[in-house]
Amino acid sequence: MRKKIDIVIIGSGIGGLVSGAILAKEGFKVTVLEKNRQVGGCLQIFVREKHIFNSSVHYIGGLEKGQNLYRIFNYLGIMNNLTIEKLDVSASERIIFHGEEKEYLIAQGYPNFVKSLINDFPDEEIAIKNYAAEMELIAKKFSIFEFNNTDIFEKSKYLTIDTKAYLDTLFKNEKLKSIIVGNNMVYAGIAGKTPLFVHALVINSYIESAWIFAKGSSQIAKLLTKVITENGGAVRRNVKVAKIVEKEGQIKFVKTDTGEIINGDYFFSNIHPLQTIEMVESTLIRNLYKNRIKTLENSVSVFCLNIIFKPNSFKYTNSNYCCFLTENVWDTMDYKKEEWPLSYSFFQTKSTISPNFTESATIMAYMKYDEVKKWENTHNVVNSPTERGEDYEMFKKQKANKLIEIVSIKFPNLQDSIKSIYTSTPLTFKDYMGTDDGSIYGIVKDYKAPLQNMISSRTKINNLFLVGQNLALHGVHGVAMSAVISCGNIVDTTSLINKIMDFEK
Ligand SMILES: Cc1cc2nc3c(=O)[nH]c(=O)nc-3n(C[C@H](O)[C@H](O)[C@H](O)COP(=O)(O)OP(=O)(O)OC[C@H]3O[C@@H](n4cnc5c(N)ncnc54)[C@H](O)[C@@H]3O)c2cc1C
Repeated sequence: MRKKIDIVIIGSGIGGLVSGAILAKEGFKVTVLEKNRQVGGCLQIFVREKHIFNSSVHYIGGLEKGQNLYRIFNYLGIMNNLTIEKLDVSASERIIFHGEEKEYLIAQGYPNFVKSLINDFPDEEIAIKNYAAEMELIAKKFSIFEFNNTDIFEKSKYLTIDTKAYLDTLFKNEKLKSIIVGNNMVYAGIAGKTPLFVHALVINSYIESAWIFAKGSSQIAKLLTKVITENGGAVRRNVKVAKIVEKEGQIKFVKTDTGEIINGDYFFSNIHPLQTIEMVESTLIRNLYKNRIKTLENSVSVFCLNIIFKPNSFKYTNSNYCCFLTENVWDTMDYKKEEWPLSYSFFQTKSTISPNFTESATIMAYMKYDEVKKWENTHNVVNSPTERGEDYEMFKKQKANKLIEIVSIKFPNLQDSIKSIYTSTPLTFKDYMGTDDGSIYGIVKDYKAPLQNMISSRTKINNLFLVGQNLALHGVHGVAMSAVISCGNIVDTTSLINKIMDFEK
């Protein structure tokens, strides 16, 4: 029998797992190596007092039949086993401005989305319709399922358009512009930087359909792991790769921090490109490439307040809230310490016993890494727990109190409804995801230099590939799409895409 080709994947984020599951299904022998006790990277969950909390991913788009993420998950055979629920079709997001009663609703489905905005801004009807049509068009042009029908030149245009400038040209009403970018925490949008394709692809996936997990985001990672193992592969936990070793122009093996050597024919790295190249022992990765990657900016991090509510105390709303304490909805990550937070997102989990009430919730606000830098030499994860110190605990407590005070302005019974709280900071994300600075979405995309900050999945070493949020786009949807393209380095892209599409028929 012919020996199967060995694929070694470093990291079990959505990028590593989707690539692993595709390649395992395609007949390769896949081994995924994950440094953490739990697989999934940003898909990890944690449990406190029997309540499940998502560490990062709170909602995903594109999971309706015929939509992109559905197609991939369906092909991989995990779609029917997901326990997900749709957010309110008329308001997956409620955009609110501090001190204002009104909630602006972001609806699902383009007709609903358009109707809801026109309802609030009738004078902007034409612009709203044009905007929606363009978002749909951009999403189509960038869809992997239109791979062979897209004109590269047409597509590249959207890499070089500034989102803010585009919206300023299209709309007159300042409030409407703010609402359109009201959920910009899902892509950490920056005025004068974020390219239109990033805004469009993220927005489009949630307008198409927006879903929350009934039993936590880790179910995606568990199901993908099952696909890999059922197809003869392995997902090994608590295995940290320390070196990637090249000989005669090829990566021959990776070495773990305990000295174990794992051989392979092809290697995929699901971790940050900078960390990847720092692990590679090879003269083939030139300094020019290293320096280019080193200069790239990473996105901001966040502080999360995870709340367990007293039973039947806090009313459930099947929508995510995005709240702004400033009129300038862009750049709320660029706050002065004393004005933190300038925005927050509020994700609720319905009670399983009394569905009209919220059982637990996460409130997320941007936080700069600098705020926690003084504790960066501490490391605290579940498979190697340590204390970061009393001053760190005090810092978290102060931030939690401040956030509760701010959120209570919109939700006056918040404080009284809280049973207990748990917090995470940029250091939590640094330690669990293995990034240098707790960056939530990886390398920042800039419309002014698209070629510099879009990283190719190919490297100078022809059997080492990159996968994950630092390449084309972040988010479960974006990373899963680019994982298909990364697999195209080994299998024929067109036939893989055709197979995925045929599967749906
Ligand atoms: C706070 C937060 C909120 C978010 N909210 C959403 C959301 O609601 N919806 C959405 O779609 N997206 C959301 N995202 C973005 C999304 O989660 C990410 O873009 C995506 O999950 C990243 O996937 P990835 O494959 O790039 O890898 P990651 O998830 O970053 O995983 C990388 C994996 O590699 C492992 N690793 C690192 N170094 C090593 C090593 N040396 N050896 C072995 N393993 C290693 C890590 O432990 C980790 O498991 C959020 C992200 C964050 C942080």
